[in-house]
Amino acid sequence: NIRPSLKSDHSSTDHWREIGGLEQVKLKLRQAAEWPSLYPHSFERLGLTPPRGILLYGPPGCAKTSLVRALAKSTKSTFLYCNVAQIYSPYLGESERELRDLFQKARLLNPSILFLDELDAIVGKRDMTVGGLNQASSSGGVESRILSTLLNEMDGIESTKDLLVVAATNRPDCIDHALLRPGRLDHILYVPPPDLDSKRDILKIHCNGIPLCEHDNESGDMLERIACDENLTGDMTGAEIESMCREACMCAMREWERSGDLNIQVDVNMKHFLEARRRIVPAI
Ligand code: ATP
Repeated sequence: NIRPSLKSDHSSTDHWREIGGLEQVKLKLRQAAEWPSLYPHSFERLGLTPPRGILLYGPPGCAKTSLVRALAKSTKSTFLYCNVAQIYSPYLGESERELRDLFQKARLLNPSILFLDELDAIVGKRDMTVGGLNQASSSGGVESRILSTLLNEMDGIESTKDLLVVAATNRPDCIDHALLRPGRLDHILYVPPPDLDSKRDILKIHCNGIPLCEHDNESGDMLERIACDENLTGDMTGAEIESMCREACMCAMREWERSGDLNIQVDVNMKHFLEARRRIVPAI
């Protein structure tokens, strides 16, 4: 009689391994989204209701979208992506209709996770002003109508057990408080930029299978040196580390091609990482 548990569920942990670090965020997401189906009786006994909405906030490129994709895979839910800025339409009622259709689709495809990316792009605080103009009034009230539609749809989720809304933003201060009330996006999780351990993991993930130069990696610590070097990965996000790894491979390819000796095996050395780093301007 094996009790299901987050730790023993290997099939669902695989998806999480592709994301380096962020152990606390992963755990909280899994507790919020996996526990209700793993332990329905305990939830009922304690009078707990599964969360309807989660808000992830943090700098861009730090795995918010990747976390939600992993959550959808681990809960075997359909992943529906919506960039909120893209549903903006100047035509009366069109944005609201699109949002309602999206929720309708999510309800039909249950279990599903509806991911609303860049939530701040359109559902900012109703009293926010831009250059002295009220956003809502300057754009014909589209934002406030979208916000009302979103609030209505969130409130309607109660009857749909298998729909979870996850929203992401880089600007949590811009989100209208009505959206954060209990029963809406009331689980709020910070997704931080990578710390040293996370950088180690991210480098391992994105360099997996890449042949590293044996000379530079003699003691097997080349990635460790890159992770610890503040000048190399100091202010980098996961996305930037990933693109540095890709760019280092391209540097190796260019050098190999230039060498004229295509019989030698191409591999990536420290110099390629340094060159790749020079091409990246960290956003943070
Ligand atoms: P944005 O706010 O710009 O939408 P985001 O926070 O949603 O960004 P993702 O889209 O999940 O970030 O990540 C961008 C890329 O960076 C992905 O390809 C992902 O593989 C990589 N990445 C970011 N953080 C990590 C991490 N912790 N581990 C592994 N890869 C990562």
